[in-house]
Order: sequence, then C-alpha cells, then structure tokens
Amino acid sequence: MQHHTFEEGLKYRPDYTWPEEGTKRDCPKCKDTLELVENNPSYYGKPWWCAPCRWQFSEEDLDNWGSGSSEEE
Ligand SMILES: [Zn+2]
Repeated sequence: MQHHTFEEGLKYRPDYTWPEEGTKRDCPKCKDTLELVENNPSYYGKPWWCAPCRWQFSEEDLDNWGSGSSEEE
C-alpha cells in the first residue's frame, strides 16, 4: 500500500477550481480547443492543457486572461 505524506514545504496540490467534465474552453493564446485534464489526485498541474502552446491554464487564468494586462489583442 502506497502511503505518501509530504512535509510542509514540499510540493502540494494547489486548490484549482476544476471544471465540470465536458466543459469546453478555448486557448486564449492560439484559440484552439483546450484539453481538460482528468482530475487525478496525483496530478499537480492545472486543469486545462493546450498541446500546441504546451501551456497549462487554470479557470482563473482563463477568466483573467487579458484583463489588467497591457498586451495587445
Ligand atoms: Zn494554445
């Protein structure tokens, strides 16, 4: 039986908002359809993955994308 406890200061799983299965969102960078990663307890990344950009996004990233930045459209 595998039992891992991580001491404080080691990598922990960030508390990302996980989208409902079947949700579709588009990459704000390349406008391609993002892949929704399976919500697996051993996965420490963000829920959305863009293969062409090789970039992860959280719901927060997508909601805040482009707002408050000076980047051009
Ligand atoms: Zn992309």
